Amino acid sequence: MDGSTPRHQITRLRHELRRRVVTLASAERLTPHMLRLVFTSPELRDFVSAGPDDHVKLFFDGEMRDYTPRRFDPEAGTLTLDFAIHEAGPATAWAMAARPGDSLQIAGPRGSAVVPDDFDWYLLIGDETALPAIGRRIEELRPGVSVTSFVLVPEMDDAQHLATAANWTGHWIARGASTDDAGLLLAAMRGFASPPGEGFVWIAAEATAARALRRHVVETLGHPKAWVKAAGYWLRGVADAHERIED
Ligand SMILES: Cc1cc2nc3c(=O)[nH]c(=O)nc-3n(C[C@H](O)[C@H](O)[C@H](O)COP(=O)(O)OP(=O)(O)OC[C@H]3O[C@@H](n4cnc5c(N)ncnc54)[C@H](O)[C@@H]3O)c2cc1C
Repeated sequence: MDGSTPRHQITRLRHELRRRVVTLASAERLTPHMLRLVFTSPELRDFVSAGPDDHVKLFFDGEMRDYTPRRFDPEAGTLTLDFAIHEAGPATAWAMAARPGDSLQIAGPRGSAVVPDDFDWYLLIGDETALPAIGRRIEELRPGVSVTSFVLVPEMDDAQHLATAANWTGHWIARGASTDDAGLLLAAMRGFASPPGEGFVWIAAEATAARALRRHVVETLGHPKAWVKAAGYWLRGVADAHERIED
């Protein structure tokens, strides 16, 4: 041991759980199935989001849903959230009807799992609900590092352009009328071989799909479990469902 910090240490940070009221400044239809809402508030002054897969809780008449801080600009005091448009529950319905000036109560992030930018490569797999976290990570990675993404979107026009200095290879898969999210993503990944060196794999999608994808990464690609993070961001047919996926 040379006393230096070991590589690949994932740091867990806790933040004070604050509730804030934010005001919608602008709404933009980013792609056919993605709404980008930008919020402002003096209460965002001390907002912190240290990890691309952080989440905030949004409150709708007694119900809460999780969303990713897609971008926080401390100088402008703006928080950007991207809403995937699908069968409408309270969050989606609110976002689709929201107009500038509307207010929303949010809480968090409660914590962040900060993945160090010291892996040799990154593999990011998910659907449109994971795209805010995937996009943010791709944008934030160090220049030149290899990152590959497989993202399932409703249609090809939902693919996003992401500005990054990383060496990014993006694969976009259109769901169309299929409900076999796992099958579509696994088929797209068939030609993927892990690059040399040590990699970090991040997966978030519909829960049954996320479980199948994690199994593929661990069992077929033989990736070390410690360097795979998988989460179910929603569950088909069930409102307000999410889970962290481990053995
Ligand atoms: C940590 C975390 C971060 C997340 N970040 C984001 C984000 O940044 N942007 C984002 O859009 N979503 C994100 N999600 C997913 C989002 O929280 C869920 O999709 C949530 O269920 C949406 O709430 P709702 O009120 O619209 O629908 P709900 O009332 O929860 O569900 C209503 C119905 O819609 C179905 N449903 C839910 N999501 C989808 C979907 N994507 N496609 C098809 N049917 C669906 C449910 O199965 C249910 O039948 C995140 C989830 C987690 C756990």
